[in-house]
Amino acid sequence: MAQLPLVIEIPKRGATCAKGGEPLVAGEEYYSVLLEDPEKPGYLRQDFCLKCWQELQPKAFKSYWKARVPKQWKPPKKEESPFDRAFRILREDLQNPTPENLNEAFILSIFLSRKRRLLLRQEIVHEGEAAYLYEDPATEEILCIKKVEVSALKREEIQQALAKKFKG
Ligand SMILES: [Zn+2]
Repeated sequence: MAQLPLVIEIPKRGATCAKGGEPLVAGEEYYSVLLEDPEKPGYLRQDFCLKCWQELQPKAFKSYWKARVPKQWKPPKKEESPFDRAFRILREDLQNPTPENLNEAFILSIFLSRKRRLLLRQEIVHEGEAAYLYEDPATEEILCIKKVEVSALKREEIQQALAKKFKG
């Protein structure tokens, strides 16, 4: 089996613009670009303020995304919401990427992106395997989710297993 793409670490957003050095402040929009690291497997990330982005030639980049620095940090709630629980299960799956857990992570990522709790930023191919990069807009964390083919029957099974985890 090919190496799983989930071991890829996607760097966090920089605190400042990669071109002009301006701090990226709460509520501000910015652009992010991922470049393959020429020295080791993985990616380098550059984030740009809107002004610098316009000065660059954005068309030169194969792919990029636009995001916004979260307006404010919210203290974690004491009660775990269904979304918090979905994120927790998803992270556990990604830390232990067995084929079952990767299927489950894929289904959870679809659920969370439909609810706009995860935003699709980029699709990548790493060692021949497709994966999606999703951003949690609340924390700006980027999660790498391997694309899997899941049959309708399998999907049903996974959803039932998830329903149990949600209750527990
Ligand atoms: Zn700038």
